[in-house]
Amino acid sequence: MNPVYSIVVPCYNEEACIAETHARLTRVMQGMGESYEILYINDGSRDKTPQMLNDLAAKDDTVRVIHFARNAGHQIAVSAGLDYASGQAVVIIDADLQDPPEVIPQMAERWKAGAQVVYGQRKTREGESKFKELTAKWYYRLLQKLAGDVFPRDTGDFRLADRAVVDVVKNMPEHARYLRGMFAWAGFEQEALLYDRDKRFAGETHYPLKKMIKLAAHGVLSFSEKPLLWPLWAGLIFLLVAGVILVKTFIIHLLGWQTAFTVTQLLIVLSTGLILTSLGILGAYLARVYEEVKGRPLYVVSRTLGFDKKPPLPPGTRRKA
Ligand code: UDP
Ligand code: MG
Repeated sequence: MNPVYSIVVPCYNEEACIAETHARLTRVMQGMGESYEILYINDGSRDKTPQMLNDLAAKDDTVRVIHFARNAGHQIAVSAGLDYASGQAVVIIDADLQDPPEVIPQMAERWKAGAQVVYGQRKTREGESKFKELTAKWYYRLLQKLAGDVFPRDTGDFRLADRAVVDVVKNMPEHARYLRGMFAWAGFEQEALLYDRDKRFAGETHYPLKKMIKLAAHGVLSFSEKPLLWPLWAGLIFLLVAGVILVKTFIIHLLGWQTAFTVTQLLIVLSTGLILTSLGILGAYLARVYEEVKGRPLYVVSRTLGFDKKPPLPPGTRRKA
């Protein structure tokens, strides 16, 4: 029988966090008194993470492990977790305890009351730089402007989703995965749950600026076609300005006046900049089209553990022989 809850935990070089994360998750889940499974996705870790996960799977019946053949990225690791999860509700949570597992029972409560997605909305973010806080804030506002109001603010991937929604997201074939956007796109009854985001339990972030920018670009490029039209508007404005200048030059010429035309130089630089930017925007979308057209699998699994085990029953009940 499928468990009530599946907990999806992407792990990349998390040797310093896994023991504590598993202990806290287990405490919370056992406290809820319903069946559950915990899926750890080893996203090509290079430290002791793989071994630690195998050990967990060997001694804990609720643990399933998916080893990737190489590092594929957080969003892909979570996607694999969604593919393998069998619970009626799936919880996505980071391995570094930034999302406190103690919030899960509250999410479950909302789910039982009818919500189909309960996403964690960050009230505060502890231990993150002012820079990250500010850029995140402005980015979410920009995304709301571009993609419409479907995107909740200050929301990461920490959430509980009903099987119905998970099945929709799972079957979205796109490679450029921006899961929080995909969940928002799916619709259904969605509810926010405010929580305080903690600082990382141990280790360092695996989201350096470069990866952050990539994820941010996924968000915009996958969910808004507006940037594709920016060059068009800019081009039209330029044509208009060019028209005015043409008329003006013609009149000046007719009157026989002399002009020193530094505006031309400015215009050349400006229009070159605009043309290159426009090409860049086209290129950014084209690159995504290419990525999708290749149609490669999202991830490569090298080994799985624990999927033949039955989920444990709630405390106090017995499995029939
Ligand atoms: N992660 C992953 N693959 C990666 C990078 C990160 O599976 O390539 C996992 C990581 O182990 C953690 C979660 O994704 O569970 C979030 O990563 P991190 O805490 O480094 O990012 P931050 O919270 O700083 O944005
Ligand atoms: Mg983190």
